[in-house]
Amino acid sequence: MRLFVAVNLPDTLRKAAWNSAAPLRDGRLPVKWVGVDALHLTLKFLGEVDAGRRAEVQDAVDAAASGTTQFALPVLGFGAFPNPRRARVIWLGCDSVPELELLQHRVEQRMSDIGFPLEVRPFHPHLTLGRVRRDARPASLAGLDDLLQRLQFQAQTVVKSVDLMQSELSRAGARYTRLHCAKLDSQ
Ligand code: ATP
Ligand code: MG
Repeated sequence: MRLFVAVNLPDTLRKAAWNSAAPLRDGRLPVKWVGVDALHLTLKFLGEVDAGRRAEVQDAVDAAASGTTQFALPVLGFGAFPNPRRARVIWLGCDSVPELELLQHRVEQRMSDIGFPLEVRPFHPHLTLGRVRRDARPASLAGLDDLLQRLQFQAQTVVKSVDLMQSELSRAGARYTRLHCAKLDSQ
C-alpha cells in the first residue's frame, strides 16, 4: 500500500483555500488540479509499504505525535516548485512555524527508526494545488508568475492531529484515505 503522513485541514479552511485558487484554475494552464477534498500538507512520503507493516507504521505516527502540543499554523502565499517559470507543482504555502518543524522532524525520526530513508531535501510545507502536465511546453506557463502574484489568501488553523494516509493512484488521479489519526496534546 502507498502511504504518507499528512496534516489535514478543517473543511472550511480547505474550501476557502481551494476557492482562493480559482483564478489559477480558470487560467487555461496545462495543469492537473487537485480537488478540494484532497488538499493536504504532507509531512513524510513513505511510498509502497507491505500491508503487514501497517500497525508498526501507525505506532510510529503515534509516537511522533505523543508529547507534541496542538499549535497554530498560518496558511498563506502562493508559489511553484521549482519556480514559476518552470513549474512542476503549484502550491499554497504554510508558515514553517517551529512547532511544525518539530513535528515533521519527529515524524522523520520515527520513520527512520523503522527503516524508511531520511528525506534529504529541505522541508517546504505546502498544499499542492496542481501538478503541471509532463508534456507542457514552458511557453504555456508564461502567465503563471503574474497569476500567482495576484492571488491572495491568508488564514490560520490549529493543527490538532497528524494522519496516516493511503494513496491509491489511478488514471483519474490519486484517491486518499485516512487510515489513522494521531491526536496531538491539547494546550
Ligand atoms: P499523483 O502522483 O497521481 O500526481 P499525488 O502526488 O497526489 O498524485 P502520491 O504520489 O501518492 O499522490 O503522493 C501522496 C503525497 O505525498 C502527495 O502530497 C505528494 O506530493 C507526496 N509525495 C509523493 N511523492 C513524494 C516524494 N518522492 N517525496 C516527497 N513527497 C512526495
Ligand atoms: Mg505523486
